Amino acid sequence: MRAHEIRPSKLVIFDIDDTLVHTQTKVHVVQDGRVVKSLNSHDFTHYKLQPGQEFDFGAFRNAREFFENSKPIIPMMNQLKQDIATGNKVVMVTARADFDDRELFLDTFRKYGVDMSKVHVYRAGNMAGKMQTEEKKKIIIRELLNSGRYTKAIMYDDAVPNLDAFLSLHKEYPHTKFYAWHVSLEGEASEHSRSHMEEDWNKVNHHDKTNGLSQKAVNAYRRENPGSKLQTAVTTKPSKLKKGSKAAKRRKSFCARMSGNKGPMKKPNGKPTPKALALRRWNCESIEQMANMIARGEQMIAEMKQQQLAEQGVAEGGGAQQAAIAIAKKASGKYTKDGQRKK
Ligand SMILES: [Mg+2]
Repeated sequence: MRAHEIRPSKLVIFDIDDTLVHTQTKVHVVQDGRVVKSLNSHDFTHYKLQPGQEFDFGAFRNAREFFENSKPIIPMMNQLKQDIATGNKVVMVTARADFDDRELFLDTFRKYGVDMSKVHVYRAGNMAGKMQTEEKKKIIIRELLNSGRYTKAIMYDDAVPNLDAFLSLHKEYPHTKFYAWHVSLEGEASEHSRSHMEEDWNKVNHHDKTNGLSQKAVNAYRRENPGSKLQTAVTTKPSKLKKGSKAAKRRKSFCARMSGNKGPMKKPNGKPTPKALALRRWNCESIEQMANMIARGEQMIAEMKQQQLAEQGVAEGGGAQQAAIAIAKKASGKYTKDGQRKK
């Protein structure tokens, strides 16, 4: 590579069938020389060959049929064109083998305005061996990743096994970020997963300095864990919350859980710890104060014990402990002078 060459840092991989176009073409399953099943491209994606069976891609090689019968998935075609225009490295990786007429195959995309001189088409169907399509696609993509230093790799595919195989490459290329987009039967792309979700969500959660589930952090977490029930923090003042409402219950349970967590409320530099910030964000301050007091009380007990040990040489701190608890209770304002809880 010459120094002045500018290489794209983004690799964008498009599947063809049911990602860029819908077709009615069938793949035949052949056993003992006869066709035992005919699969459309969607069924083909999920079909596992039984022992003694083979795929016959005969019809899938027919470029005329592809040109005349495939229906474009417009949003994905637009995505493809946009990636080409941006200067990303754009490839198609298909389960198909070679077509019988290369130019006619390319014309199918050209007629929708796709500059096919910028797109290389890799055909997993040309590869020998009885591997599943996702394994073959993985080999092709690995070679692509070896050929350039990509900071991002993006894949659009309607088949989840292909996306998962793609994502599994992240282990081998830890410096590349992997984004897997699933294309639905309706032709809508939604993010399936990405390789660095954990980092993202932690980054957002720390970045807003709340550690208490902001909308952004929740969105990042939901991307990472599709179907997750994680919700944003309840930041409404407790007095404004409807008693017994879902939000009130969530706040109560959060405060209880969080305040039960051992750990300091202040960092050595005097700044509040993430735990303290989260308690504050959820309006658990009373609990925060209690936690502070208990910590102070515990310290007093420890100090008094030390003193007793020195004075009496006995490790018995019952009286001191009670004294410290009384101090803590008094400071909370929730208890009367003689240690009874205020009504
Ligand atoms: Mg497909």
